[in-house]
Amino acid sequence: MKEFFERENIELYAYVPLSKCKIIKKYLLEKNGFGPNSGAILMLLPYRSDVKPSNLSVYASVRDYHKYADELSKRLYEYVKIKYGNAKFKLFADHSPIDEVHAACISGLGFIGRNGLLINEKYSSFVFLCEIVTDLTEKELGIPQYVEKELRTCINCGACARACPSNCMDESDPRPKTECMSAVTQKKGDLTENEIAMMLKNECVWGCDVCQNVCPYTKNADTTPISYFKEDIITELTTELIDNMSDEEFLSRPFSWRGRSVIRRNTELFREGKERSR
Ligand code: SF4
Ligand code: SF4
Repeated sequence: MKEFFERENIELYAYVPLSKCKIIKKYLLEKNGFGPNSGAILMLLPYRSDVKPSNLSVYASVRDYHKYADELSKRLYEYVKIKYGNAKFKLFADHSPIDEVHAACISGLGFIGRNGLLINEKYSSFVFLCEIVTDLTEKELGIPQYVEKELRTCINCGACARACPSNCMDESDPRPKTECMSAVTQKKGDLTENEIAMMLKNECVWGCDVCQNVCPYTKNADTTPISYFKEDIITELTTELIDNMSDEEFLSRPFSWRGRSVIRRNTELFREGKERSR
């Protein structure tokens, strides 16, 4: 399998036996014929490039990672059919049978930040997670053997809590009190005056990267080596851009799942806010 990962520029991967994982959707394993002796190869996919979007979250500025995962799985199945014959392989992205963050942590790929995100030493928290479940062992796959790591947390410097625009992570009380801006920008219907003001102040029409940007692990983080995440990046989201997107183009974007009206509402609010401040 090393050859496959090298070919795909995927450098962060690790095997975890399913017996060590937190199973959250058992039916997905049963449906695909995986028993308790199967394992998962966790993969981290860095997605931040040198291009910095001005008014949307980095994850939303690149093309949808589900589409990348679909393309990757096609190449994977072709590869393993030739190399491993009838062995079972199934790639999961997002809709996963296991707790991916927990599995990534115990396999040594990262640790949990105070903002709840998985942080990797090299790429910080700008990583997507996915995994290949298989009935082969590490030895049969020719990849490093699983060595269980303790669950680690970040250095808890508090920079994310101090910088959070909606103050959802109070320094003395980590329980969220207000809604994360990322969730606010995805709400349907009308936003409240307060939510609109927060969105305009945060200058982000979709998502929020503040807690990731201020994190000390991000300071010297590398950019992605994966070409899919380096091409066709949206640097500024406007109503005009949304309106001129074909359906195919729109559906290739991470914000498409909410439909055009929600993102369009935000770009219009952003435009009106800018006009008022002139
Ligand atoms: S900013 Fe500090 S507290 Fe927040 S996730 Fe990063 S290291 Fe942890
Ligand atoms: S994404 Fe933004 S609003 Fe949400 S917790 Fe992080 S800094 Fe706060």
